[in-house]
Amino acid sequence: MSSNKQHCNSYEWRGFMLDCVRHFMPISFIKEILDQMARLKLNRFHWHLTDDQGWRLPIKARPLLIEKASTRIDGDHFIGGFYTEEQIRDLVKYAEARDIVIVPEIDIPGHVCAALHAYPSLSCPGHETRIPNTWGIFEDVLCAGSGETAIFLNDVFETVLDLFPSPWIHIGGDEVKDDRWKNCPKCQKVISDNNYPSERSLYSHILSPICQLIRSHGRSVIGWDEMLESCPQEDIIIMSWRGEEGAIEASKQGKKSILCPHEYFYLDYPESKDDPIPGADWMPTLSVEKMKTYEVPKIEGILGLQSNLWTEELLGPKEARHRIFPRLETLAKKCHQKTSPQLKTSEKVN
Ligand SMILES: [Zn+2]
Repeated sequence: MSSNKQHCNSYEWRGFMLDCVRHFMPISFIKEILDQMARLKLNRFHWHLTDDQGWRLPIKARPLLIEKASTRIDGDHFIGGFYTEEQIRDLVKYAEARDIVIVPEIDIPGHVCAALHAYPSLSCPGHETRIPNTWGIFEDVLCAGSGETAIFLNDVFETVLDLFPSPWIHIGGDEVKDDRWKNCPKCQKVISDNNYPSERSLYSHILSPICQLIRSHGRSVIGWDEMLESCPQEDIIIMSWRGEEGAIEASKQGKKSILCPHEYFYLDYPESKDDPIPGADWMPTLSVEKMKTYEVPKIEGILGLQSNLWTEELLGPKEARHRIFPRLETLAKKCHQKTSPQLKTSEKVN
């Protein structure tokens, strides 16, 4: 097997994210992708494991996450699945043998409808939430005033830290609405008890202890670029997806970042107008030629580049494969053409 170590013209972070929630992806397909990543000398597999539509990660202290939250019901169909601890440990080793780190993402405090379905006491209304069969941004979020929330998150992230040796843990943080917090007496009490200026402070009230937990294990926290606005005090690596603004602001704050601006790096976007995705007319196209034109901004702190594949409209491996290739090869080429300024990092690669 050829080495996947860093070369002098390569970015330290050469990543690919696979959403295994909106539609479940089997381990055999993930191994296929890891093989392809190794061939292209990509070295970070970002595994999106939880979202509104499902929960894929076993947590021993929270068995209902698998029993109730890993499957959604659409008409007569049961859609979903989960990974076992054994499969996860095996996959981590499989990736390691190819010089790839598996970076798990547990998305909080929004995108949690499936978890709230399993454990309603984590929600503001306190009653059962349906697992949606549609996509978008939902109002339901973790309740900052429920005593259960912190205990639940501790159970989840202790397991994540045990299962994944990754130096980085991704905690999501994207697309969080305040509406539930505004109308929840328990959350309002947290705001008044802590003299918080607004509901937005509940975001960091929930996430900061988890950042501390992850750091106490010697790991680093990654979050989507919304965390810059809502958790600015935290020492985190920013994944800049809504454009480059997240990376630019992160650089100003002395934080590191990973670039995955959606217009250039989201592989769920169709390659051309001739290859449209049913139900996703809003999506812009992303051709290989457009990806090639991307220029990395000349700012400090950029660890590298990443492509993301969200699977709302992709039913399984066949459809996913069609989106991933050949554009993953274009991403890899970009990842091996590092531009100045040089990284100010002494972090060991891999
Ligand atoms: Zn609440």
